[in-house]
Amino acid sequence: MRLIDAMTHLRDARVVEQAPALLARAARAGVEALVEAGIDPARDAELRLPAAAGVALTVRYAVGLHPMHIDVAHHAAQIAALRAALRRGDDDVVAVGEIGLDRRAGAPPLALQRALLHEQLALCAEHELPPIIHCVQAIGPLLEVLRAAPPLRRGGVVHGLCASRASLDALVAHNLSFSVGGMATLARAKRCQLVAREAPAERLLLESDCPDHPPRGFDQPLSEPAALRVTAAAVAALRDTSAEAIATLTADNARRLFGL
Ligand SMILES: [Zn+2]
Repeated sequence: MRLIDAMTHLRDARVVEQAPALLARAARAGVEALVEAGIDPARDAELRLPAAAGVALTVRYAVGLHPMHIDVAHHAAQIAALRAALRRGDDDVVAVGEIGLDRRAGAPPLALQRALLHEQLALCAEHELPPIIHCVQAIGPLLEVLRAAPPLRRGGVVHGLCASRASLDALVAHNLSFSVGGMATLARAKRCQLVAREAPAERLLLESDCPDHPPRGFDQPLSEPAALRVTAAAVAALRDTSAEAIATLTADNARRLFGL
């Protein structure tokens, strides 16, 4: 089975020390490449994972300002760091993310989130990179920002999405793909399962979202790239196909989207 993990946070404090071991385990599970996403460019744009000796797994990066990591007093400096990173044009940067909107309690003001998402989508167009979009309880505002932003000619991906069929179709019309993670393995997460089941085949990707949202049935407490095998099997059951077919399909889609 060959897999590509469309989004990880292996630099998260909970797992960073184990990152070389997790990369080795991922490679043994068939993961050929992963995209390690940023959350705060002022802190992580230049931070790279330690190399895992002897592990044949391609690590690529996304840089971006996550809505929950917006520093209301210093967001201009955060965006300046993102601009600098994108101008540098490192070969291993393949996307802008995570960026997006989040309306959970304690989130930064929505108007500021929207302005920074718009600005980062413009950077995607300028640098011809796809966004990795985070959207929690904010599909209406996300669609409004997408309508006003430059079109996503290179495509993009919404990760861990829970949505209705109508919202899914509206996001497809903006040339977006969908990376499905552990949430879609939970029977109660009906709208995550809907996305996993009904996303167009050429727009389906898999993600571990390491270390959050381990798939049901995975034998570790935190998610990690090796968990993709479990998610692939669950998505295959939802789409009435084989895990092998889902692995191949989603790996091909990820290669195309991120230019891997
Ligand atoms: Zn996210």
